[in-house]
Amino acid sequence: MTYTIAPPALPSLPIIGSDQRFPIRRVFCIGRNYAEHAREMGASVDKSAPMFFCKPADAVISDGADVPYPSATSDLHHEVEMVVALGRGGHDLAPEQAGSLVWGYGVGLDLTRRDLQAQAKAKGHPWDVAKAFDHSAPVSALRPATDVSLTADTVLRLSVNDALRQQTALSEMVHDVPHILAALSTLFELKAGDLVFTGTPAGVAALKRGDRFHAELVGVATLDGRIV
Ligand code: MN
Repeated sequence: MTYTIAPPALPSLPIIGSDQRFPIRRVFCIGRNYAEHAREMGASVDKSAPMFFCKPADAVISDGADVPYPSATSDLHHEVEMVVALGRGGHDLAPEQAGSLVWGYGVGLDLTRRDLQAQAKAKGHPWDVAKAFDHSAPVSALRPATDVSLTADTVLRLSVNDALRQQTALSEMVHDVPHILAALSTLFELKAGDLVFTGTPAGVAALKRGDRFHAELVGVATLDGRIV
């Protein structure tokens, strides 16, 4: 078979300790998964109803890449998040099953046009233009789950121009990874290659052209980049 135009490239991420790459199918994100961040956004956490949105797979950019300041905003915000990569899929999973889908871990930024998100919230519009724009998902190289054991004390943090902006322990998550994946699997069939952004802690703030960011899931992965 031949295509009428050149097929788009398959987005992928490097893997720590390997020459292979991880192919990306879809990118799912959970909102309001840290109570302090929900509060700073003037929202509350509904433990019974996790809230999800998506980014396109080709919004993912790799460690070290420059991030172009996006069009149509004057309030680009950082949200540092643990990113989970799935090696298997499924649907309608129980949390006891869903944890076994995880292939590996990384750290990413859920970049957000906060001004457009505020407008969307006020008008009841979808969040796509606020969340799913080009280059909106810088993600580190991925660490295979077989190489690392996360604990409740594992620290997620972000510095901008060497000043600490966001920091939390994973124990502060409202929904842990198995519960996130189980809830997602009732809404979408999950498949190998999916990435899941697991929510951001408090401290979200603006990024400007020239800012350098350093995100870390301590002991697992780091992500560096620059807004240009
Ligand atoms: Mn987020």
